[in-house]
Amino acid sequence: MAISEFELIKQYFDRANVAGRRGIVKGIGDDAAIVAAPTGHEIAISIDTLVQGVHFPENITPADLAYRALAVNLSDLAASGATPWWFTLALTLPESDEAWLQAFSEGLFELAANARIDLIGGDTTKGPLAITIQVAGIVPTGKALMRSGAAVGDKIYCTGTLGDGCGGLQCWQQQLSGDHADYLKSRFSRPQPRLIESSLLLGLANSCIDVSDGLLADLAHIIAASNVGADVDITQVPVSGPLFKQFGELSLEYALAGGDDYELCFTVAPHKADMVESAFAKQQLRLTHVGHITEGSELRCISPDGSLYTLPKSGYQHF
Ligand code: ADP
Ligand code: MG
Repeated sequence: MAISEFELIKQYFDRANVAGRRGIVKGIGDDAAIVAAPTGHEIAISIDTLVQGVHFPENITPADLAYRALAVNLSDLAASGATPWWFTLALTLPESDEAWLQAFSEGLFELAANARIDLIGGDTTKGPLAITIQVAGIVPTGKALMRSGAAVGDKIYCTGTLGDGCGGLQCWQQQLSGDHADYLKSRFSRPQPRLIESSLLLGLANSCIDVSDGLLADLAHIIAASNVGADVDITQVPVSGPLFKQFGELSLEYALAGGDDYELCFTVAPHKADMVESAFAKQQLRLTHVGHITEGSELRCISPDGSLYTLPKSGYQHF
């Protein structure tokens, strides 16, 4: 007999305060969860839905799916400079398959424990597979990172390497295997939300966004919100070894316009740049200076010879 909804929640999702964050008065098990906002802080909230066939390939494992669903939400908290606090989960399932639920639950709580975030409630319904997660984080009052603070002269940085998520999705879709393809697929299925990096940016970065739609598309959000322009030096855009070995010249296109990377892109006033760079170096976190904020409203990619680079229109269709 299929497991009851009550049993399902109890068995796979009800974990008493694993993260040990303060202020969670009541989690799963009542009509509403109750949380107390810590004094001196604001609350950052974000929600994302993953729908089968739209946001993930059918052959992704349930553990990776859960991991990814939470990771993309945590990435939004990282982009805001917020510390993860609690999340809710709305799960729509075609059937109550216990092996699937067990694996999903393990993937979910693996990342929840690492990021120290508690599941405090949710909803479970029957229908085509879809996962909605809402996260909340806390940030000292007035200190949240936003897209709108970039100023002329700011240095533009990004974390990690870009294009791997897009490369990984291509590998899933084309069923590629081998060391490079496996690395890229894991970058797609288990993105690492840049929470430590984010915590180093409070009070130092002028603006920040997470790269979910490709560096250029996301940097365009920063410049639009901040009323400035930007120059990106394409020779500096960080591309991983596996991405280059698997996709060659296409790597740059993936890095600039691919998406699904969940790295942070942020801007820093020149006089604070040393502080940011040494904070990252101290923790051995990858950081790349990719350009600077300019007057005007244009987003330009500069080639090594100083000419403007435009993305080739041919090649893969990402959108
Ligand atoms: P109600 O009928 O009052 O909306 P539910 O029966 O939907 O309550 O849920 C009972 C409890 O289980 C609530 O605390 C709810 O937040 C929690 N819950 C339901 N589904 C999930 C889920 N997928 N993950 C986590 N908590 C859940
Ligand atoms: Mg109720």
